[in-house]
Amino acid sequence: MRILVTGGAGFLGSNLCARLVKKKEDYIYCLDNLQTGSLENIAELERLPNFEFIRHDIIEPIDLDVDQIYNAACPASPPAYQADPVHTMKTSVLGILNLLELARENDATLLQFSTSEVYGDAQVHPQPEEYWGNVNPDGIRSCYDEGKRAAETLCFDYNRMYGTKVKVIRIFNTYGPRMNPEDGRVISNFVNQALRGEDITVYGDGRQTRSFCYVDDLIEGIVRMMNTPEEVLGPVNLGNPGEFTMLELAEKVLERVPNGSRLVYKDLPKDDPKQRRPDIRKAEELLGWRPGIALGEGLDRVIDYYQRIQNR
Ligand code: UDP
Repeated sequence: MRILVTGGAGFLGSNLCARLVKKKEDYIYCLDNLQTGSLENIAELERLPNFEFIRHDIIEPIDLDVDQIYNAACPASPPAYQADPVHTMKTSVLGILNLLELARENDATLLQFSTSEVYGDAQVHPQPEEYWGNVNPDGIRSCYDEGKRAAETLCFDYNRMYGTKVKVIRIFNTYGPRMNPEDGRVISNFVNQALRGEDITVYGDGRQTRSFCYVDDLIEGIVRMMNTPEEVLGPVNLGNPGEFTMLELAEKVLERVPNGSRLVYKDLPKDDPKQRRPDIRKAEELLGWRPGIALGEGLDRVIDYYQRIQNR
């Protein structure tokens, strides 16, 4: 099988490529514009005969012979996607249009990496797929949230209009190796701040919640979703239902990295969702999937990873 992974040098994309190359009879095209991805993430993969890197921005059309397309291309960290909001929207909307055309021409299956951000500042908790969400269309997060919502709409419209094979997953907060230490997300920030003995930056009062999934668990769910029968379209939530406040997370990091860091409180970014936890019953039913790595164990692994890359 010829498999295209867009955003393949980013955090999720590179972890997915590392998993897919193990099946040696498959050939993996890793496509990335390197806006937030890095060649370091795929350095070991580039030596393999069934892996090829292509530098390309999906807002431009692309022509390739492929059987499966995983669309992981889009900056996902709030500071990264807010840096150029117009490009973020183009990545979601023009990007998915180009990839849907590619899927249609090739009769390939396209799996769209959507996000829990489609639920916005959720007023239903935990969030099931049926919930339509509470999203500000005009705020600083809208370029990402509304872009991802529009991309879902396009996937389902291509399926309804042309029978294009699509699948949509909604990814909740995920962490693990290959996330850039400067990414700006909470786990990479807290762990790297603690390792350097710097202040831990808690936004707001730290009582907002998130549910954190270790990347290996997520990748397993994603690959299972891609290989479901054609009639399984989703959307399907993928995430770890364990829910923690940012203060609880900080405490867990400090227990593991006692370097004398203190908590400092910063302003809560605008439209920051107050609570988030996936309802994963659909993933359990359709994919027989549930995450197996608890936050404590995942933190041990990711601390070990950031320590290793700091010492390189
Ligand atoms: N956050 C924080 N300190 C940081 C980075 C983030 O307290 O250094 C908070 C942020 O305000 C949010 C939560 O952690 O409530 C998760 O943020 P992240 O950017 O990781 O992902 P989000 O779920 O907001 O996209």
